[in-house]
Amino acid sequence: MTPRYPLAATLYPYARVPAQDAAPVRHPVVIVGGGPVGMALALDLGRKGTPVLVLDDHEGVGQGSRAICFAQRTLDIAHRLGPGARMVGKGVVWNVGKVFHGEERVFEFDLQPEPGHRHPAFINLQQPYFERFLVEAIRDAREEGAPIEIRGANAVTGLTRHADHVALDIDTPDGPYAVEADYVVACDGARSPVRGMMGLGFDGRVFEDNFLIADVRMTADFPTERWFWFEPPFEGAGQSALLHKQPDDIWRIDFQLGWDIDRAAELDPARIRRRVDAMLSSRTGTVPDYDLDWTSIYTFQCRRMHAFRHGRVLFAGDSAHQVSPFGARGANSGVQDADNLGWKLDLVLKGQAPDALLDSYSSERVAAADENILASSRATDFLTPKSDASRLFRDAVLTLARDHPFARPLINSGRLSVPRVYDGGALNGPDALDGPAISCVGAPCPDAPLDAGFLLDRLGGGFVILTVDAEAPARVEEEGIVATRLALTTRDHDPTGALRARYLGGAASGVWLIRPDQHVAARWAHYDEAALRRALRIATGREAGP
Ligand SMILES: Cc1cc2nc3c(=O)[nH]c(=O)nc-3n(C[C@H](O)[C@H](O)[C@H](O)COP(=O)(O)OP(=O)(O)OC[C@H]3O[C@@H](n4cnc5c(N)ncnc54)[C@H](O)[C@@H]3O)c2cc1C
Repeated sequence: MTPRYPLAATLYPYARVPAQDAAPVRHPVVIVGGGPVGMALALDLGRKGTPVLVLDDHEGVGQGSRAICFAQRTLDIAHRLGPGARMVGKGVVWNVGKVFHGEERVFEFDLQPEPGHRHPAFINLQQPYFERFLVEAIRDAREEGAPIEIRGANAVTGLTRHADHVALDIDTPDGPYAVEADYVVACDGARSPVRGMMGLGFDGRVFEDNFLIADVRMTADFPTERWFWFEPPFEGAGQSALLHKQPDDIWRIDFQLGWDIDRAAELDPARIRRRVDAMLSSRTGTVPDYDLDWTSIYTFQCRRMHAFRHGRVLFAGDSAHQVSPFGARGANSGVQDADNLGWKLDLVLKGQAPDALLDSYSSERVAAADENILASSRATDFLTPKSDASRLFRDAVLTLARDHPFARPLINSGRLSVPRVYDGGALNGPDALDGPAISCVGAPCPDAPLDAGFLLDRLGGGFVILTVDAEAPARVEEEGIVATRLALTTRDHDPTGALRARYLGGAASGVWLIRPDQHVAARWAHYDEAALRRALRIATGREAGP
């Protein structure tokens, strides 16, 4: 087997297993692909006690940064699963972005959310670190008994669907063997061999543009900010350029080259250096010492599969949907796919929810993908106007924005990843509290500092009845699903007022049913036993919503 890409680190070397010499063994879940999405899902399922097998055709993480911006919601999920602190500890925290048009700075934004969140709006962290920390967290979880197995150099080459299982053919350095699974999750990336094996396609657009990435190692005193240029003033930079800091003194530089390019010539290190020299010297007139750490040219698509569930095969991450890198919505939304799917698969496999619960994975995450594709397509259209009229509009906005604040929000250099609110989702119960929109039904729970620690830590990973200044029983069990109460009061647990502001607003009391992925399933002003039980049935796919 020849690796398709060089590794940054070998993390799960190939090891022959007895299953290769036996009749196919049945697994509850097999994840195809050990990228960030597959590993996040494996960690979630394993920590819940559901046995999971990850098959990856390589033995570790690939070289090259690819994703660098990881959003607050991803960090919240990673914190719940284990590796969050390592990611934030290594990552570069940034909040300020500056937008230039030619030489002139036209716009500046600050993503620093209001205080009272454990995590910053974003960190910059090379994708290989992100994946490595996930694998380390899997090792830690395994030591605590989590049933997660990773098989490196196991390439899935065939898939057959049966009524009650899926059969997979696997190639290894020792030759082929087969496994069976109750459910298969295809996390095998944008080219998804599994999607190909099932003859499934994509709907969407291919954007005709090429971007050169250069990851440059240097010790420079550029501030820790995201700098974006439309029509950069330095030679050979193309139509736009981006500069971003990563850990280990690495800087990410992107140049938009246009469509009709000679790829090999553009990847010539001498040519890349001329471009980088021009950008780096534009500020000080001198070129600092630097090394080219990694270079690549990418194009991109904004597209998704029609549905993310096909019977016993589910698709997550880049295999299901793709967006442009501007906006950092690829890995961030893929981790949210994993977060949405983990608890549902777990409940279905434990017999605590009907198989139909998995349909909501597709409908909720398809809606999220559409939101991301729309944001990404708009940014791309702004960056690369496709008609004279859209170029005129873009240039007018950039000119006006220098002096007129109203034009600044129209500048789109990639609106950054935000989590999806599952409004109108199939699992939503009643929204019967006149409370803030930020914690409405379908929303991911906003964090809040409590008297001790943060709210999201206290919510954990099961169904929770959150009460603020309201009564409820300590525990409710409905058809095998247990919801436990987290009882808070604004008097005793809300030192900063953030809990009141984010959950109650003007209301005197509130009761929320929170899902295991920490999205709000229903909310009321007061506890009502029958209403809560019904909401639990709706949230687990046993009953249709209101
Ligand atoms: C230049 C660039 C910049 C980006 N920047 C950002 C950013 O800042 N923020 C962000 O959120 N996203 C960003 N992205 C997107 C991000 O890199 C992807 O969305 C992310 O890698 C998707 O993860 P995944 O796990 O779905 O797929 P992948 O990371 O592609 O992983 C798929 C895995 O499946 C394995 N595999 C494939 N075929 C098989 C097979 N037959 N059998 C077994 N295993 C198989 C692969 O080897 C791989 O390990 C960027 C992408 C690019 C190209």
